[in-house]
Amino acid sequence: MFCAIVAGRAPASIVYRDRVALAFMDVNPVRPGHVLVIPTAHRAQIWDLDEAESAAVSRRLPALAAALKAATAADAVTIFGLNGKAAGQTVFHVHFHLVPVHADDPLLRRRGRRVTFRLVLRRASRAQLDTLARRIRARLAQPLTLTADRHSLASGSRRSGLRDVRGA
Ligand code: 5GP
Repeated sequence: MFCAIVAGRAPASIVYRDRVALAFMDVNPVRPGHVLVIPTAHRAQIWDLDEAESAAVSRRLPALAAALKAATAADAVTIFGLNGKAAGQTVFHVHFHLVPVHADDPLLRRRGRRVTFRLVLRRASRAQLDTLARRIRARLAQPLTLTADRHSLASGSRRSGLRDVRGA
C-alpha cells in the first residue's frame, strides 16, 4: 500500500522524500500533523531493515520531528512504531509515526502505575493534509539543506530532497 505512494501511484501529502526515505501525512491522523516516515524499499517490519536502511531512515527523524514540532507549535513529539500484527500493525511496510502533542491534550496519561496511551484516528481532508505538509516542509527546508549527508549528496537526493517533493 505504501509502495504505491513511493511509486507515485497513490495520492499522498508529501513532507520529505529522497532515494531511501519518504515522509508523508497520515491519512487518519491521531493529531493534526501526524506524519509517517518509511523506507522507500518495501520492508514489512523493522527487523527486515539492514543496517544501512535503518540508519538512512532513522537519521532523518530528528529534523522531521523538529520541523513538525515547530510547524504545529507543539510542546512535544511522540514517535512510535508498531511491528507485527500482535503489536497492532495494520500496514505491513515499516513506518515510524511522528505525532505532535500539546500539553493540554496528551496522548499518554499516567495515574500511578497505570499508564494509558490512547489513540483516536480522526478524519482529515486532502486539503488539510496538504496544508500541514506544506507548513512542515517550510520548516524543514533549512536544516535538511544544511545537514544533507554524504550518502544523499552522492546519490543525488540533495537535488531530489525538497525540490523533488510531489503531491502536497
Ligand atoms: P499502523 O497501524 O500499521 O502502525 O499504521 C498504519 C497507519 O497508516 C495508520 O495510522 C493509517 O491511518 C495510515 N494509513 C493507512 N493507509 C494509508 C494511506 O493510504 N495513506 C496514508 N497517508 N496513510 C495511510
